[in-house]
Amino acid sequence: MVPAVSTIILALVVGVGVTTLANICTTVYLHRGLSHRAITFSRPAHAVFKTVLWLSTGIKVREWVAVHRKHHAHTDTPDDPHSPAISGWKTVQIKNLAMYRAAAHDRANVDKYAKDLAPTAWDRVLFDRSWLGLTLGTLILCGVFGWQVGLLAAAIHVNYYLAASAAVNAIGHHFGRRPYNNSATNLQWLAFITAGEGFHNNHHAAPTSARFAHRWYQLDPGWWVIKPLTWMKLARLRLNEIVLAPDQRRERVPQPA
Ligand SMILES: [Zn+2]
Ligand SMILES: [Zn+2]
Repeated sequence: MVPAVSTIILALVVGVGVTTLANICTTVYLHRGLSHRAITFSRPAHAVFKTVLWLSTGIKVREWVAVHRKHHAHTDTPDDPHSPAISGWKTVQIKNLAMYRAAAHDRANVDKYAKDLAPTAWDRVLFDRSWLGLTLGTLILCGVFGWQVGLLAAAIHVNYYLAASAAVNAIGHHFGRRPYNNSATNLQWLAFITAGEGFHNNHHAAPTSARFAHRWYQLDPGWWVIKPLTWMKLARLRLNEIVLAPDQRRERVPQPA
């Protein structure tokens, strides 16, 4: 049975909406918060981010953090879990999930790079059960929007999320501008579809900065979420300015408002 056009349009809106939420949780919480400690979160914010990630991606936070920290420690060397310089950008774009899984399921990586994120009781009961989270998330979509829209939206979300995440690792280390002296690149269109991750060259230059946009004309949607959270005291920034890593240009860029 072919779904009606209205069903497909609603599924598209819902699917893109779910991916946008998952992308915000990934960049703000998993990446800028837990991986680089650029932001600390209040307990309620922490619980909301972790729950949304569990329902929409099934990601185990310490695994994601370990793989990402290893990427920063060994960028574009044979020890990088997903390097276009080593494997080619097309291979990383297509095989990003398999590359991520290989590194995430290696206990040595998690033990070395995510020591600070030992599993909690909540992890053991709920958040480490990836399939339970994904099944519950899909059931919620089906319960709210009906099974046809729910299943179609879930399929759209999975494809969008995986393709966009892969693009940060593949395209974001191959195509685009490199204002700083590192192998990652800046792409505004990629930043739009990943809540700011497309300013990957800026990020490798200043990994401890919560803001990925370094110029007034660069638009970082993740930052638009972080700022209100700080006003509501749900999040706190580690630094109030963008501090470049020692091997990047030795200058301080004022934090834009
Ligand atoms: Zn990178
Ligand atoms: Zn990073």
